[in-house]
This record gives sequence, structure tokens and C-alpha cells, in this order.
Amino acid sequence: MEIIFLIIYPLKILYKGEEHFVDVEKFSNIEYYDLSAICGALGYKFFYDQQHEKFIINFKEKKAILGNGNPFFLIGDKVYNYYYPPKKYLNSFYAPLPLINIITKKFERIFLENEGKIRVYTAGIKIKKIVIDPGHGGKDPGAIGPNGTKEKDIVLDIAKRLKKLIEDSLKIECILTREEDVFMPLSERTKFANQEKADIFISIHCNACESRVRHGTEVYFLSPAKTDWERAVAARENAAIRFEEGERDTGSMIESILWDVAQTEFLKESNHLAGLILEELCKNLHSKNRGVRQANFYVLRGAYMPAVLVEAEFISNPKCEKKLKKAKYRQKIAYGIFKGICKFKEIYEKRIRL
Ligand SMILES: [Zn+2]
Repeated sequence: MEIIFLIIYPLKILYKGEEHFVDVEKFSNIEYYDLSAICGALGYKFFYDQQHEKFIINFKEKKAILGNGNPFFLIGDKVYNYYYPPKKYLNSFYAPLPLINIITKKFERIFLENEGKIRVYTAGIKIKKIVIDPGHGGKDPGAIGPNGTKEKDIVLDIAKRLKKLIEDSLKIECILTREEDVFMPLSERTKFANQEKADIFISIHCNACESRVRHGTEVYFLSPAKTDWERAVAARENAAIRFEEGERDTGSMIESILWDVAQTEFLKESNHLAGLILEELCKNLHSKNRGVRQANFYVLRGAYMPAVLVEAEFISNPKCEKKLKKAKYRQKIAYGIFKGICKFKEIYEKRIRL
């Protein structure tokens, strides 16, 4: 494979009132950032061990060790793995931004963004903004019930009701990824939540399967599926990708793989949020609790915040479909999700992120 480094632009970092410039290069179409310049900007002590080709960062009592071309790296005594290894190039040591963020977050709860901004995570984080994603839309109807009810219409209505509950009762901002019956690519949905700097991302769906009697509710977070059922549900929801026009931008696909790591940073929170929403939903709907589940949903990839996907009942079951068509029932779904968010907010804002 040909190795090409291209200097594309310097990244401006504003940290503690000072401006710093960091070289950004492209390697195999991935953006790599000059690690020594970032460490310099953030005031970390670092040195490069020429002999062993290791880059070592010291932060208080913690140490990170990265090897040239090695996807494994150490922070303290823990080993981390990253798809795209850091690289030495000329006299500098480069790493992709998500990798650098794993380190800076472990060191001092800061997170660097592509635009050169720094987000600081401190104790008692306030949830200020929530992005709700009504699944499907436009040419993608989602699942269709035996009597023709479309998932895209049901979930949009639930999302609007949920937005109203959140804004009226919690007095925090809530934005929908789509307000109308329009198509939106899966990767755009999380990208939107990241751009909005949302603190929570919730994608709303209704389940479907061949059986017309299966019923109940599930809530998912992003992690490899453990069962065939989880894989099947994810495959059905991911199939929305077939509606996306033209060639998929490989750059953005690679980016989304990179950002899976971002979501693993929020694994615990996402799992917790899924559990709280599921509990409240089932209580409110008298729906069968089918459990918190995990699968590789494209729509959750890349979310830099706790993110879950709700599968509220089965639209493929005629009895459930009939219920889903009722406004009162959809309000109950919205209320269940809302209650779960309230509980999560209360717990999340009190604790310290580690
Ligand atoms: Zn769906």
C-alpha cells in the first residue's frame, strides 16, 4: 500500500485563552493530528523514545504510551486498542483525533473537536440539549403494519410528543432530526446530534418481524450483537441505508467506524439510559419487557453522547398496530421515554464522569 502524507491544514486549538496550531495530515484518507503539538498546547509533558519508537505522555501520575504503527496503547496499566495506529512521520508523531480523545478524556476529562474547540467534562454535567431521532422518513417508510400503518409516521408523532414533554417539563432544548416526512441518511442523524452538541441521543422505532403475535418493547445501545435476534433487528433497521443515493462517501464511512470508539466511551451511560427508558416504557404501556439489548445500529454510530434506540412495540402485530394508531397510546410511549430521561438526568447530573 502506498503511504501518502498530505498536509491539509493546521488545526487551531484554543486552550486556557491561548491559541495553538497543530498540523493535520491525511494518511490513508484519515485525518492525523500532530500529537506533540497537541500535548504542547495542553501543557502535557511528553517525549519520544527513538530507540523503541514510543511516544510517552506524562500527566500527573498517569502515563500514556503509544508505539509507532501499533494499534495497542497503554494508559496507566490498561491496554487500549484502536483501529488506526499512531504513526511517526518525519520528526513528528501523529494520531487520529478520536484516539487522542481517549487519552485526554482519561487524563482530565477534556475532548477535542475537529473545529479545534475543547469541551470540558466536569463533575455534575448538566443535560442541556437532547436530540430525538424519529426513525426512517420520506422514501423510507420503515416497517409497515398488516393494515398499512407506516413506522415512519408513528415514530414522528411520538418524537413530537416527546419533544413537547421535554421542553415543557424539563425546560431544556430538544431538537428533532426530522420534523416532517423527509428522508435523512443514517449517518447524518448522529452527525447532526454531534454538531448540536447534544447530551443525549434517542432514536425512536417500532419493531417488526414475521410473527404476527410477537409483542413487547426493547431498548438498544451500540455494541456488537450477542444474539441472532439482535442481529436481525439491527439488520432490518440498518437496511434503511439502501435508500441512500449514489456512492457512499468512503471518507464518512471510515469516519463513522472511527467514531464507534466515541460511542464505546459512553457504553455504560448508554446501557444505563436504555434500562431506565425500558423500565418506564413497559410500566407505562403494560408492554412486555423484552430487555435492554445491544447491536450494531448504524444510526447510533459516531454519537459522542449517551445514545439509545427504542423499539416500541411491534407494528407487525395487528393488535399492537391498532394501539400504535391511537394518539393516546403514542402519548403513553412518549411519556414512558420522557420518564426514563428524567430519571437518567437526575442520576447523571449528580455523578462525576470517570
Ligand atoms: Zn425502524
